[in-house]
Amino acid sequence: MSRPKVGFFDFTSCEGCQIELTNFGDAAFLELLNHIDIVEFREAMSEKTDHLTIACIEGSFSREQDRARLEDIRKRSDIVISYGACASTGGINALKNHQDDYKKCVYGKDCNMPHLASQEARPISAAIKVDYQVHGCPMDKYEFLDIVSHLLHGKEPVVPTYPVCVECKRNETVCRYDDGDHCLGQVARAGCGAICPSHGIPCEACRGFVHDANEESLVQTLIEKAGFSKKRAQSKSRMFTANLRSDAQ
Ligand code: SF4
Ligand code: SF4
Ligand code: SF4
Repeated sequence: MSRPKVGFFDFTSCEGCQIELTNFGDAAFLELLNHIDIVEFREAMSEKTDHLTIACIEGSFSREQDRARLEDIRKRSDIVISYGACASTGGINALKNHQDDYKKCVYGKDCNMPHLASQEARPISAAIKVDYQVHGCPMDKYEFLDIVSHLLHGKEPVVPTYPVCVECKRNETVCRYDDGDHCLGQVARAGCGAICPSHGIPCEACRGFVHDANEESLVQTLIEKAGFSKKRAQSKSRMFTANLRSDAQ
């Protein structure tokens, strides 16, 4: 029996999620590599194949000319996974959808060069059907491994639907608010094991929001408990979720 064929593709991103994978020395990941064939991976090879069991896509859909390449990947693949915040929600790239001055700030007088032209940064699912998402910036490589392993065994992956606070309480971590800090764990999608608060860092909701997130209440909490201005509280709550709101800043 032939081994499952897996390909990795990148679009608008910092490629940090790919680096997470290439640096992944965990025994379980190395074992996975014994059971699959990696048939496309721009960072390491130039070959192309007709059929993929799983296509793993990093980065946002932010240029119309990328649509044809995405459709080609979809056509050749049984399963498509978007991995990392850029691919799954638009991630931090989506901040540009609501502010014009980023390009000018970075490129100055050269900001209108033709090759810098792009559309709104959107998730890969805005262009093609995506079957599974791995959230986070960068993505959680253990979650990636878990999802791919489930799929290769013909099982449905289980992804948490509750907020990061649940994992944080389970870890018995002191709440950032009790330390005079802020945190977005009340509305952030769990699955990372509340890694940031456990290292004394606030959760910034890099995995996006849970389905029924109360953003209004989050903003109020940031104002009342962390002393943020309303503008700062709104910006903070939208850092990784700019695509959720048309008026995000
Ligand atoms: S999700 Fe974060 S780490 Fe991954 S490619 Fe996007 S910006 Fe980079
Ligand atoms: S530190 Fe953050 S994630 Fe942990 S309990 Fe407090 S608000 Fe929730
Ligand atoms: S704690 Fe929050 S910011 Fe940190 S990895 Fe988890 S979801 Fe992302």
